Amino acid sequence: MIAQEICFTPRIEKLEALIRRLLFSHPKWPDAISDYKRRMAGYRGEKSLDFHLSMLPDQQYLIFHGLRLLYEQYYFQIDILLLCSTFAIVLEVKNITGEISFEKDFNQVTWRKNELGERIKNPVLQAKLQARKLRNWLREHKCIEVPIHYCFVNSNEKTIIRTESRNEQIIQHICNSENLLEKIEQIAKYNKTDKLDKKELKKIKRLLLTNHTPDTADILQAYNLSPKDILTGVKCPECSTIPMVYYRGKWCCSKCKVISKSAHIQAIKDYFLLIKPAITNSELCHFLHIDSENIGYKILKSMNFPHSGKFKNRVYHQPLNI
Ligand SMILES: [Zn+2]
Repeated sequence: MIAQEICFTPRIEKLEALIRRLLFSHPKWPDAISDYKRRMAGYRGEKSLDFHLSMLPDQQYLIFHGLRLLYEQYYFQIDILLLCSTFAIVLEVKNITGEISFEKDFNQVTWRKNELGERIKNPVLQAKLQARKLRNWLREHKCIEVPIHYCFVNSNEKTIIRTESRNEQIIQHICNSENLLEKIEQIAKYNKTDKLDKKELKKIKRLLLTNHTPDTADILQAYNLSPKDILTGVKCPECSTIPMVYYRGKWCCSKCKVISKSAHIQAIKDYFLLIKPAITNSELCHFLHIDSENIGYKILKSMNFPHSGKFKNRVYHQPLNI
């Protein structure tokens, strides 16, 4: 049973907004686009495992995607956690093209593609660390102990994994996505003793979900940018020209002449994602390039945002479902 679905993280949504609103020529644009591509590849890799995980007995396993928990002042994130009455498995999923080599000495991992190559974080050790943090976190929350296994799952069919022979310690914690079911069944075969009853499983599920904290860190701060770097105005949904011009309830593109009644919605979402999760009427008018505060008020009213304060000081808040 899927306890927490896979979804776009706030970080991916913020990166999309940032890419929409940085000039191509901005020095931070290449960093933003490569970060976005890397995170999207990770998302697609995890998503592709849904097919394999859907073949697990539905009643037996709880599946959590992207749990992010606080332990000793720092957050740790688990790509996929499987939990059942007898054990748990932490899966570290990577979707990298090329060749990944595990070297026994120093536990180093090298990634190679074409002529390029570099040392990357060891995904097996990453999975092991997340498992250890999860164990401690569960202890801290007074949960009954359960064996926690860990595995690096390669979700890219074209990737070649190489390890040195006799590196059993590492090999047993690696699998390709098509072997994932087999891996889980293998672990299940050696963990047959029930540790958690239904009540305890329910308790852990509730604890994990209520303590899950998505990463909503300020993206401008992360990229050392200021709001001045962000392009303001409504973006044309057809040709991406910015800004569109507001005229009698509609947005008109001066380049491709497209007319839209709703193009401002994406702009307001971008404001919430990039600048702050609340907006005043004058901030809206400035961001959407509207001269009249009456029009700004009309737009905000039509969006039905939760608000606080009165008259000029009214603040409209980002709703949870935006
Ligand atoms: Zn246009």
